[in-house]
Amino acid sequence: MNFDQFALSPAIQKAVAEAGYSAPTEIQSKAIPYVLAGRDMIGCAQTGTGKTAAFAIPVLQKMQQRNAASATRVLILTPTRELALQIQQNFTTYGKYLQTRTLSIFGGVPQGKQVAGLKKNPEVLIATPGRLLDLIQQGYISLSKLEILVLDEADRMLDMGFINDVKRILTKVPAQRQTLFFSATMPKAIRKFADSILNNPAEVTV
Ligand code: AMP
Repeated sequence: MNFDQFALSPAIQKAVAEAGYSAPTEIQSKAIPYVLAGRDMIGCAQTGTGKTAAFAIPVLQKMQQRNAASATRVLILTPTRELALQIQQNFTTYGKYLQTRTLSIFGGVPQGKQVAGLKKNPEVLIATPGRLLDLIQQGYISLSKLEILVLDEADRMLDMGFINDVKRILTKVPAQRQTLFFSATMPKAIRKFADSILNNPAEVTV
């Protein structure tokens, strides 16, 4: 198996090849077709399995299909600053030949640079829940045009006490959206939460 099977745009195929990826990992083989098909998805996968590319590559592909106005089209929620920056780096790598504007938003640093970044109308926001909610409440971010929501490391986000922030963020996004939910573990509470925000999800476990 190789990346040709997904019928990705030449720009993405070239970037993926240049990243040195010759074959998709298991989570990528299973998840990418569902994401491209517009399905909601619940993915049980650890870090190190290639799960970031499993959503970043098809999300970039889908973003080329329709060129919306300057609005946040994709939101990725993740528990830590380090993960936010890593995910943004993944988007930069696979989107090397695209013009997709990304911004990462996280707490623990002054908000000025992030607010300045928001004025450039990023299409993809990669955020930790607390700072994102703070900036939404200050009126700097609207998620009313959101098309795709990704929850990355959902179990860790909940362990870190972000559940109420995540739930508040969920009230700010359109009901009609594609939602991708990734977690390394799937205890009952996480599963229940996933079921409450996903619509007929495809399930992928690696
Ligand atoms: P992740 O699980 O998303 O943290 O990815 C773990 C590592 O695997 C990252 O360094 C990726 O760059 C790398 N990686 C992801 N997909 C592939 C692939 N198909 N082939 C080779 N390396 C990959």
